Amino acid sequence: MDKITIIVPCYNEEEVIEMFYPAVQSHVKNIPNCTFNYVFVNDGSRDSTIDKLRELAEKYDDVTYISLSRNFGKESAMMAGIDYSEGDAVIIMDADLQHPPEVIADMVKYWREGYDDICGKRVDRAGETWLKRNLANLFYAIMKKFSTSYEMQRDVGDFRLLDRRCIEALKLMRENQRFTKGLFTWVGYHKKEIPFEVKPRAAGSTTWNYFALFNLAMKGMTSFTTLPLRLMTFLGIAVSCGAIAYMVFVLIMALLYGDPVAGYPTLMTVMLFLGGTQLLALGIIGEYVGQIFYESKRRPIYLVDEINGQRMIYEGVLRPMERNTKNSK
Ligand code: UDP
Ligand code: MG
Repeated sequence: MDKITIIVPCYNEEEVIEMFYPAVQSHVKNIPNCTFNYVFVNDGSRDSTIDKLRELAEKYDDVTYISLSRNFGKESAMMAGIDYSEGDAVIIMDADLQHPPEVIADMVKYWREGYDDICGKRVDRAGETWLKRNLANLFYAIMKKFSTSYEMQRDVGDFRLLDRRCIEALKLMRENQRFTKGLFTWVGYHKKEIPFEVKPRAAGSTTWNYFALFNLAMKGMTSFTTLPLRLMTFLGIAVSCGAIAYMVFVLIMALLYGDPVAGYPTLMTVMLFLGGTQLLALGIIGEYVGQIFYESKRRPIYLVDEINGQRMIYEGVLRPMERNTKNSK
């Protein structure tokens, strides 16, 4: 009998949680020789998500919820779920039912065939705006060029089934600035992509705006390649060579013809160009220094407030608190 844990990060999902459990359960109960359990991670929701989760955990034995001490972001919430999963494999799914549960049967099938990381691949990005689609294309194109050691999977999100050995590998990577999509790729093992159509959100609204997506893309680039730094070095060398050549040219013109050469416009152009490149280079270095800044603190990726009504405390390891007066069931 295989045991699979379904991990569901939830942030302000009060409207969908009640729909989620029966929708998924109706599909997974027909999969033979397999038991499923659910780990919902409440990522510091500001609505009544936690109450819905309490109700669900009360009602069903196969539901566990982990409530984080505040909103840590989806990447951290997924890690919390991964840390507390016990199954031979885990499936990560969004709470909003955009990930079709009917795909799970195929995922399990491929897993049994020996694949370790079976990921859902979006076949259309129809629900997304033209701009979002094209920005995504640009991101993948840049990542493909930049990351030399491996290729980032295209249109593949967090919806996937992971074998225990992928999970154990992910647990080794305690970096703070998590770009999970890249981490999945980094881990390697045998991958299989299953096409699926992204459904519209069942209810509620997305928390990803363009700014958040841009930040995620920056994180992806700075945590997986140092090629931008290298490019800046090349640019520096090219500009310096150009400057020397121009200097020689100006000198010769002045010596031979006494020609003062074009003054103000040339100066302005060169100054602005150099100023611009220097700022750009500094910005890029800054991004990497920022990464070092966050990683060097070695803070935990998330903090747990409670698990199934039990208040938790970190004392070297995470353990239940003895005094459990608040929030207890
Ligand atoms: N999510 C989370 N923490 C956050 C933001 C989102 O756990 O800070 C969860 C959210 O509840 C959902 C999943 O991540 O289950 C995907 O979020 P969303 O649907 O907003 O993103 P989209 O589907 O638009 O990419
Ligand atoms: Mg969604």
